[in-house]
Amino acid sequence: MTESDKTSTPSADEHYWTVLPKYIAAIENGINLTHKIAGQPTESVRQYWASVLFVRLCSVGISILHMCPGSPANTAGTHWDFSALAPLVHSLVKTCLMHFYLGTEPVGEDESRVRVLVMQLRDCTERLHFFQNAGASEQIRVFEATAEDIRAKLSSDQYFAQLPARMRKSLRKGNSESILTQDQILDRMRILDPAGRAFFGFISSHADVSPLAYYRTGENNRGRGEENDVDKHYIATAVDLACNFILRANADMEAQLPEAPDAPDAHTQEPPTSESEKRYKLTYQHLRQSVRQSQGALIEELTAGDESGAPLLCSDCFQDEGMRLSSTRIGQRDMSRCPNCGSQLGMKLSRVSVAILAQQFFVWGTIQRAKYGATPTVQLNRHQTTSIDVSPWLGPDLQLIERTLSVGFFYYIPRLWMIGEVEPLKALQKPDSRDGIISRILNEYPTRILDTDECFYRLRKAPLNPGSADQYDAPPVEKLGQGRFETSVCPILYGSQDLEVCLHECRVAAEDELYIATLAPSRKLKLLNLAELLSEENATEFESLDMALHMLFLAGSHSYEISRKIASAAQKCGFDGLVYPSYFTLLRTGGIPFETVYGISLRRISQLRELARKRTISNLALFGRPIADGLVKVKCINRVVLNKVEYTLHFGPLLPRETSSNYIDPTDPSAVHKIFVDRFQAKWNEG
Ligand SMILES: [Zn+2]
Repeated sequence: MTESDKTSTPSADEHYWTVLPKYIAAIENGINLTHKIAGQPTESVRQYWASVLFVRLCSVGISILHMCPGSPANTAGTHWDFSALAPLVHSLVKTCLMHFYLGTEPVGEDESRVRVLVMQLRDCTERLHFFQNAGASEQIRVFEATAEDIRAKLSSDQYFAQLPARMRKSLRKGNSESILTQDQILDRMRILDPAGRAFFGFISSHADVSPLAYYRTGENNRGRGEENDVDKHYIATAVDLACNFILRANADMEAQLPEAPDAPDAHTQEPPTSESEKRYKLTYQHLRQSVRQSQGALIEELTAGDESGAPLLCSDCFQDEGMRLSSTRIGQRDMSRCPNCGSQLGMKLSRVSVAILAQQFFVWGTIQRAKYGATPTVQLNRHQTTSIDVSPWLGPDLQLIERTLSVGFFYYIPRLWMIGEVEPLKALQKPDSRDGIISRILNEYPTRILDTDECFYRLRKAPLNPGSADQYDAPPVEKLGQGRFETSVCPILYGSQDLEVCLHECRVAAEDELYIATLAPSRKLKLLNLAELLSEENATEFESLDMALHMLFLAGSHSYEISRKIASAAQKCGFDGLVYPSYFTLLRTGGIPFETVYGISLRRISQLRELARKRTISNLALFGRPIADGLVKVKCINRVVLNKVEYTLHFGPLLPRETSSNYIDPTDPSAVHKIFVDRFQAKWNEG
């Protein structure tokens, strides 16, 4: 086995616990859909069969959970029986095929009608055989008559008449429930690759109790219900396969639900009429160009043509104290005379250093947080002239940088995604679209197994009895309901593997009496890893689930309602807790939201993703009271003495924006949107 195999092949446990929660989430979503369907009148025979088969599908889906040890339906289960699970998965897949074939595949009315008749004839013939064997003459007459009636309908059907003669003959006998073979339906669904089909064949053999199902009984504890890696892998693979079919059926059913009427949405422009289409396109092009000119410049653009590194300014050139301090950190010591102010002692700044200083002070230094997301208030580039108002003590410094770099400073109008206009995030904020996104979260984020040899920390400020293990469990009832994930019914133990994060999260001060407990799981803990970066090859920032969660965890207490719903859904799916990105580690990296843009592209490189997965868990939230429940044990308790507290900081300008006529609030999506609309209107009127 090569090194890369080792990292890419999960253990049986990891495989099982990665697959099962996703399966549970898919089933939960399916059950929610059945509730929605229950209130809808069926408008066609297809819709009727789609809902009948979908309900059946969910029911088999739940039965599968009863066969899965550790699932909510079988929490204390210890019986690992793949052979018994296989027929259920087989049944689920077949139901799903019929759901697609009879209910949701978009086909013409004619074909659809014949599909239903063929299925009904098959049903009739089967019942007939049953009653013939049982000798029930009354029922035999009824079903013979029904079968004849269906055959008559088929004979007079134009679509049926076009089918090959041999097929018609066989179908008229009621030999098959469908016109298409299983493989043909799978082809049309485009759902299983060759490996998946091979495994489905393997499942079918087990469902039929062919020799394959019992030949190796006893080898490595297999086939007797005892816990073993082979059966666990098989169960995981089968559940994973079932999960794909449920997800497909869910999506097909969702597409059939009538769309909720959209609220009037500012994003949708009226479709251009043919006369004005040309003008619309032209205006749009102008607008795009002007939007491009309102983006901030890259350092490379500001320094192009001057890589000499020669000093242009020094820290003594500046009057604003923040600017001066920042420039002493960025500049280089050099005893030459400053070309601008003549100082020998000032830290010297080359063109690159001036550009870095300008970005750090005016862009990073003006970042404002929106309800979700964040954006700088000021940007600079070479296309614009300065249009911001600054305090009197900063004015000369601003002009100096303006001249040195040939740039203009302006109030920045952010791209809307930066301030939370991200579709999955918007859907999470609305109670009626929230469940669908939570289901996606459970499906798309991986599981992290916290093993018994891994430790994490929990810090307490002045506990009543520092030596007692229960002081380090989730907070008592009277203190519940304030944190990001806990509710009055579900306490949460917050911990971290990163000591610094613990200190930050507890907002400690030097005079605090602090104790830290080192905790370890008593059994493997299954955690939904929301700190992982999703690779979303085809999603823009506006559609990104990854961006949505990133912004959710950066947001303050107004977002807790959503994170609590995610936690409760994860708990329902059998997770013991969550791994989530720390508010403070995100802040520590500084460059919100730019870091995010880079973050995504970097993590798309698979090696880096692997590193990210393996690294320290910065933050974890365990459901319930894991110490009292025996899930986690206290290995050690220490007193913590803070001897130094360090802050790192940047400076930014004071902007007297209230008095400025150019300023608009960049954190207000509707204000930003209005700017775009107004600009469009202005260009449009210009013609
Ligand atoms: Zn100087």
